[in-house]
Amino acid sequence: MKLEGKIAVVTGGSRGIGFATCKKLASEGATIIITDICDSEKAAPAIKELEDMGAKAKFYQSDVSDFASATETVNAIIEEFGGLDILVNNAGIVRDKLILKMDEQDFDAVININLKGTYNMIKATYKHFMKQRSGRIISLASVVGIMGNAGQANYSASKAGIIGLTKSVAKELGARNVTVNAIAPGYIVTDMTDALSDKAKEAIDSGIPMKRRGTPEDVANAICFLASDDASYITGEVLRVDGGMAM
Ligand code: NAP
Repeated sequence: MKLEGKIAVVTGGSRGIGFATCKKLASEGATIIITDICDSEKAAPAIKELEDMGAKAKFYQSDVSDFASATETVNAIIEEFGGLDILVNNAGIVRDKLILKMDEQDFDAVININLKGTYNMIKATYKHFMKQRSGRIISLASVVGIMGNAGQANYSASKAGIIGLTKSVAKELGARNVTVNAIAPGYIVTDMTDALSDKAKEAIDSGIPMKRRGTPEDVANAICFLASDDASYITGEVLRVDGGMAM
């Protein structure tokens, strides 16, 4: 198993891509800590599924957009588990609207959770990673952070910001053997993308070279690769997992 003995934190890990990532990392031997804004009752089935797989797993309720909450949670995790090896910044939201209708709250909410939340978690963990002289930080960007997308100015800006943040922190932490990478998924089947009509989904599929939407497992596999020793000389990378959508 590639991640035996490793301790992984996955923000927003109770469902969607985050939960698929937890299962994949657990299948490679990692201890899993899910942090999520939902309460422990809602996260309980995810923890149970991980434990049923034989993994050690724990849930912490935490809002990534709240700096104090992110810091307290990370400190508590490091104290309880005696370390931290892998941080997956997965928590994210959308508030899709054309810029004409997008108000300040729509913009701020998406930036605060997606971009500031990623900064908060990196800020809360980087001293630990520097001291440890090893670590993996993997953040969920998106192909729309590369291409832009009408109706997603807030979301695209947050994801483009994550790409800049990733490359900058990769330069700062490289000498400490800490790799910092981003994953840019295309169109992945989760609750986040479920709201579109079947017609819109078919139109999206036809524009993807591989002619299908991705699964959370497609993304989780790439995250697991970046978290493993197989990717120990890869940093500052933005890995598209998009069936060729953003080529
Ligand atoms: P999802 O199914 O909507 O899940 C998002 C998770 O984030 C949920 O568990 C949610 O908690 C949690 N969350 C939301 N706000 C939070 C906060 N303030 N603090 C902590 N946790 C919070 O989303 P997904 O589709 O799996 O997406 C996961 C990541 O991949 C996101 O960053 C997203 O932008 C990115 N991504 C997704 C796609 C796609 O096509 N699905 C494409 C590109 C990038 P609750 O359950 O309590 O709401």
